[in-house]
Amino acid sequence: MIIVLKKGTEQQEMDRLTDMITGLGGITVNPIVGADLTILGLIGDTSRIDPSQIESFRCVDKIMHVAEPFKKANRMFHPEPTVVDVAGVKVGGKKLAVMAGPCSVENRDQITYVAQKVKDAGAAILRGGAFKPRTSPYSFQGLKYEGLELLCQAREATGLPIVSEIMSPRDIDVFVEKVDLIQVGARNMQNFDLLRQLGQTRKPILLKRGLSATIEEWLMSAEYIMAEGNPNVILCERGIRTFETYTRNTVDLGAIPAVKKLSHLPVIVDPSHGTGKWWMVEPLARAAIAVGADGVMVEVHNDPDHALCDGQQSIKPEVFADVMDDIRKIAAVVGREV
Ligand code: PEP
Ligand code: MN
Repeated sequence: MIIVLKKGTEQQEMDRLTDMITGLGGITVNPIVGADLTILGLIGDTSRIDPSQIESFRCVDKIMHVAEPFKKANRMFHPEPTVVDVAGVKVGGKKLAVMAGPCSVENRDQITYVAQKVKDAGAAILRGGAFKPRTSPYSFQGLKYEGLELLCQAREATGLPIVSEIMSPRDIDVFVEKVDLIQVGARNMQNFDLLRQLGQTRKPILLKRGLSATIEEWLMSAEYIMAEGNPNVILCERGIRTFETYTRNTVDLGAIPAVKKLSHLPVIVDPSHGTGKWWMVEPLARAAIAVGADGVMVEVHNDPDHALCDGQQSIKPEVFADVMDDIRKIAAVVGREV
């Protein structure tokens, strides 16, 4: 339930209303004070509330019922778009956020070289997997803690904040210390223990859409993080499984305006995992920005033919520079900046 307050409502009156509601038990009240609007977002068992009791407060403008099961992630709870600060890089504002780097950190030369190249082309955040969720247990699993160290060195050399995927709750302390943006991969989108524990940190979280997750399931996963108190969630559409096999996944571009309508959280697109084909990354990156995404995440490798993971969908630094040029042009058309 949402209670919209009249303009100019005094704090004292808001407190009186809040006390009355929390006094009913089982309900928490989240005040959201915006530039034009102050609202109270109610979470919990609102069936105990008699609307006429609320309407009797003179400060109440209107009461709205929230049909969706996600509350804190709901745009009704937070009409302004959320801007997440990733070590100084703002994601969700006018400026687009481009995250780029290799699928996996392979060695120091590789990650520092790619980091410098993507920075020169205009990327704002460096990506690199250290813990890799591979389909086969016999495939390269990532350099793990050593990979995180190498990423930190690349951050030091370039100044780019870093994003990397976490797979287990036992690594949360290490990730909080070393990484600027913690990625929850598609395969862990419904690892609710991991989500809850990440919710207890205040680190920005990049939440990828699950392989077969509906938009509502994806937003409910964001809700798990936010319900614990961490509001810093960025969503990432990375393609979903459909009957189509030509592409690795089907990029659901319609999910971007849908998420923008339903939620205030920033949302980016990963055209690399979304298509699985390097030559499709550029057109889909353009489309992502055109459709309203707040940025993209792209896999870039110095030598895709010999990459230890996802070489077929990784672009070379020269192609990434072209992608950035395209993004700049589309950004101007849709009123964004790079
Ligand atoms: C990745 O970004 O390296 C990755 C494994 O992505 P996803 O979880 O979307 O498959
Ligand atoms: Mn990958």
